[in-house]
Amino acid sequence: MDIKTTLLTSLRKLAQQHTKETLGDRRNYLGASDIGYCPRKVILEKINPTEHDLATLLRFERGHMAEEIVANAFAAAGFTNFERQVEVIVDGKVPLRAHIDFVFTSKVHKIKSVLETKSTSNIPDDPYGSWESQLYIQMGALASKFPDYTIRGAVIALDLANGDVEFFNGYSPQQTIFEGLVKKAERLWSDYLTILASKEIELDTDPGPLCGFCNHLTSCPRFEAEEVPQLAASVDELQELQASEKKFKDKIDLCKEKIFAIVQKRGSIKSGGCILRKATRNRKHLVTDRLDQFLRDHGSSIDEFQEDRPFSFLEIKKAKATAA
Ligand code: SF4
Repeated sequence: MDIKTTLLTSLRKLAQQHTKETLGDRRNYLGASDIGYCPRKVILEKINPTEHDLATLLRFERGHMAEEIVANAFAAAGFTNFERQVEVIVDGKVPLRAHIDFVFTSKVHKIKSVLETKSTSNIPDDPYGSWESQLYIQMGALASKFPDYTIRGAVIALDLANGDVEFFNGYSPQQTIFEGLVKKAERLWSDYLTILASKEIELDTDPGPLCGFCNHLTSCPRFEAEEVPQLAASVDELQELQASEKKFKDKIDLCKEKIFAIVQKRGSIKSGGCILRKATRNRKHLVTDRLDQFLRDHGSSIDEFQEDRPFSFLEIKKAKATAA
């Protein structure tokens, strides 16, 4: 068995064990994190859970590591007033449970603070809507269990690859948002039971840029038609970013060119707390003309050693307006 297969099978086993120990059987209830995602995806994943690939399993492990890092840091800082993996059952018509990464309690001040840990590559400027939905359910659930306590909430996002941390603080329970999310949970649960009873219904969808990571995209009704209007905002955002990238690249190139021209004439200088100098490196360069000549002298040619390899990229072209 090669190392990748060993990793894959062992991490799958570990992930199942971890889910069983901390979350139990997720087919029997809705988790707070389920509510922020596309209902169709959540339901189909509950019915036919996909076997996770190595990349996903490594992402899960990164999530556990992030949580351990935060726990160790709080313990080292002398905090003893927190509990981990706190399960709170939401009262209501559907089995909805919140599993909270950290709950800090001040008995003196009667405050309970929820802290949700997120591990991500490239921390967003603002927390994702799905993170906030999860937090509002967690805070709402805790508020109903501890009416004499003030409840607060925060998300800590860690980017382990780049060593970046962001703290999104200042949340408090919002009854209207909580009730709206519980309503969404009720609809989701009822649709889930209908599908389990083998009845045909069209499930609610929430198409967005994360659809590319959904295992149910090819059967998704939102992608049946050629036109998917719900992605327009993401396409616009990408095009705007590409335009700014080009603008910045042009500016950077121009700036570099000007400073390099000075350094080339003047030699090394110090400025802005930096040393600016001309650096020269050697790079191995294949002289194809000579190689081709050599090969031809030996009855071959460079063409015989070149092959086409397919590669894929995202091409964006303006679509022709269709007649009304
Ligand atoms: S492709 Fe997108 S909209 Fe369709 S089920 Fe998956 S996440 Fe939902």
